[in-house]
Amino acid sequence: MKMERRWLNSYPNEVSSHLEYGTKPLFAYLTEAAAEKPDKTALHFLGFEMTYKQLYDQSVKFANSLSSLGVAKGSRVAVMLPNCPQAVIAYYATLYLGGIVVQTNPLYTERELKHQLIDSGAETIICLDLLFGRVSAARKVSSIKNVIVTSVKDYLPFPKNVLYPFVQKRQNPTISVDITYGGGVHPFKQLVKKGNSTEPSVAIDIAEDLALLQYTGGTTGPAKGVMLTHRNLVVNAKQCGAWLYRTSDEKEVVLAALPFFHVYGMTVVMNFGIMTKAKLVILPRFEPEQVLKTIHKQKPTLFPGAPTMYIALLNHPDLKKYDLSSIQACISGSAPLPVEVQEKFQQVISGTLVEGYGLTEASPVTHANLIYGSQVKGSIGLPWPDTECAIFKSDSDELAEPGEIGEMAVRGPQVMKGYWNQPEETSAVLRDGWLLTGDMGYMDEKGYFFIVDRKKDLIIAGGFNIYPREVEEVLYEHPAVKEAVVIGVPDPYRGETVKAFLVLKEGAVCKEEELNAFCRERLAAFKAPRLYEFRDELPKTMVGKILRRVLIEEEKEKQEAD
Ligand code: AMP
Repeated sequence: MKMERRWLNSYPNEVSSHLEYGTKPLFAYLTEAAAEKPDKTALHFLGFEMTYKQLYDQSVKFANSLSSLGVAKGSRVAVMLPNCPQAVIAYYATLYLGGIVVQTNPLYTERELKHQLIDSGAETIICLDLLFGRVSAARKVSSIKNVIVTSVKDYLPFPKNVLYPFVQKRQNPTISVDITYGGGVHPFKQLVKKGNSTEPSVAIDIAEDLALLQYTGGTTGPAKGVMLTHRNLVVNAKQCGAWLYRTSDEKEVVLAALPFFHVYGMTVVMNFGIMTKAKLVILPRFEPEQVLKTIHKQKPTLFPGAPTMYIALLNHPDLKKYDLSSIQACISGSAPLPVEVQEKFQQVISGTLVEGYGLTEASPVTHANLIYGSQVKGSIGLPWPDTECAIFKSDSDELAEPGEIGEMAVRGPQVMKGYWNQPEETSAVLRDGWLLTGDMGYMDEKGYFFIVDRKKDLIIAGGFNIYPREVEEVLYEHPAVKEAVVIGVPDPYRGETVKAFLVLKEGAVCKEEELNAFCRERLAAFKAPRLYEFRDELPKTMVGKILRRVLIEEEKEKQEAD
């Protein structure tokens, strides 16, 4: 594939187009933080605090206990935890042994968990006690030998009424907290206590050795394990620092509302936070009221999030009661950020909210607008240092002109090694180091990139191409609309037709006719939705991305039933 470095001419003066990444593996940054800032608070969790020295000591001790259970370089260790101190300890302990972390989502069903455990070949899993039932069932069909169980009480000796939100009876009928230890089941806290406190010694080739298997793509087929090396992860956290930092005074307080088990929260919050010796204010999940209270009290300076998080906070009835002025910088990723939301949210914080872009296969971030520099609204910004980006004309190897829409490809040191045990899937997306993203976008004359949509989300109605995002942007401009998503549904005459799903703001009243008129005033007639459905909520992922696929499936089932 022949491609040029298209962005170079427009690279901003504020940042360097190239960074040094060194040769240290990811865990060495925790060792360094503990040596240089032993008494600094690393983690704040619902009132409990842990210093860098404590975090390091406990991670090392836990690593040595894992080692005595057989975990060694290359072993896969599954972690099934919401954000809590144990999630950070389990992650770094695995890395200290040269092990590979397999992040699993605590909301996974038994079937999803089984797939991931079997595919990764993990022999150890670290989970929350409330998830033990599901884990035990999955253990029977996988290669899991050791289950390490932790409880929220392990780090909250004064348990407030922490209702652990990750176990919703509806989704998880197999909840069990009656745990019998022995037979390969071990208590987390005890392993941390009894482990040897000498840091394990393991040789890591950061460019080759894997740190993570991160599963993705579950909505289109079985999830694939993205292989990310130590270098991939170190690079992306350092790139993040170059974009987000004013100084390196280590005074940042990072709000950890994004889950660490998703690559976005893991890199931009956890790894970035530890590598910059920041304080992480950890929340077990995104609950708007708790987030507002935490910002008011803990005064974070950085708040990486997803559009639906900012939307939820803006729509909270008590928003004005809370002081969010400590926040200097927010980066929004994982889904398009409506300009309307960006502008409104910037009015309630002191700093800037910028949009970025990424995908699991790139650790994940490849683009963002600068926090302390030039920004273009509605754009995902510029490629990060050492990252190249190109747009291809539809289904060809030819580069698109500025302004012309095509598939976006990226190349850089944060791009994955490939999919675990899936050479064919790997060669379908990775060619000569270029990762085909499956996202449609364009570059403007100044080198800023814009995402118009997922390649597969494109709607073709009566022969016209419609990008859902454009229609959604218009819907978000309507004052009654809280959330909007647009999909294509089969239509006997036009092939597909546009359907909008909407959640209205609390107390707002708005009829289909009004929205229809609103869209037709602002969009070409063929783009305006012909069908509207109002809902109380929309299906979302843990990072707040609206699950368009779920809605598409529901529509298909409805049509088949008719
Ligand atoms: P994941 O691998 O789960 O992180 O999902 C990656 C996908 O999220 C990308 O391929 C995009 O489709 C989408 N995405 C991420 N950031 C943005 C953004 N700023 N605008 C639009 N789509 C985005």
